[in-house]
Amino acid sequence: MSHAVARLRAERLARSVKPFVARGSRAPRCPGCRVIPEYCLCAWRPRVAAQSAMCLLMHDTEPLKPTNTGWLIADVIGDTTAFAWERKTLDAQLQALLDDPKWQPYIVFPGEFVAPERVVSEVAPGPGKRPLFILLDATWPEARKMFRKSPYLERFPVLNLQPEQISRYKLRRSKRDDHFCTAEVAAMCLELAADQHAAQALDAYLDVFSNHYLSAKHKLLLDEEDAVHRRLQTFL
Ligand SMILES: [Zn+2]
Repeated sequence: MSHAVARLRAERLARSVKPFVARGSRAPRCPGCRVIPEYCLCAWRPRVAAQSAMCLLMHDTEPLKPTNTGWLIADVIGDTTAFAWERKTLDAQLQALLDDPKWQPYIVFPGEFVAPERVVSEVAPGPGKRPLFILLDATWPEARKMFRKSPYLERFPVLNLQPEQISRYKLRRSKRDDHFCTAEVAAMCLELAADQHAAQALDAYLDVFSNHYLSAKHKLLLDEEDAVHRRLQTFL
């Protein structure tokens, strides 16, 4: 297993002076999916093609959290890169990615926080370009700070997800609140970029991840024939 988030996690672990202890993490976890082996979901990783690319800017300890869903994005979307967010320095590889003319970067963030001329609600990368969605993978207060303090992102349009799309999405996923995890935000970006198939695969995979994670936490029996697994099965 060596996708961008797995590598970032390994680097971050290597830098730790004291071991990072996530809640409930005493049991050994599968290195491929971060769930305890009896509930491993490695066999359920969907493989789909997508036009879009994802660039995760991750807050310090985010790659270490077993519930981090940026990991799931990297599992599903082949063109996923992940970087540790730094206030002062811009990673050379991140710089090269942002400068590469084959991408049209969009920073995904609520439009109310920026000048209206920078805000877009549609994904239209222009001829020869593919969308690159920059996602701030952090808690909301951390993400706001990262957004304010990253001057190298100021030249890119801000993709503001529209209330109609958000409510359609909420309805479909039977969500009651407005808090979206990073994988859900990525799925909404994929929908906007006409990567419907990848969007649905990511949603289905997120549901199976949540099912395995919560079953492990509460020591419940897994039913791999249930509705969430059957839905994901069509993307394997
Ligand atoms: Zn696994």
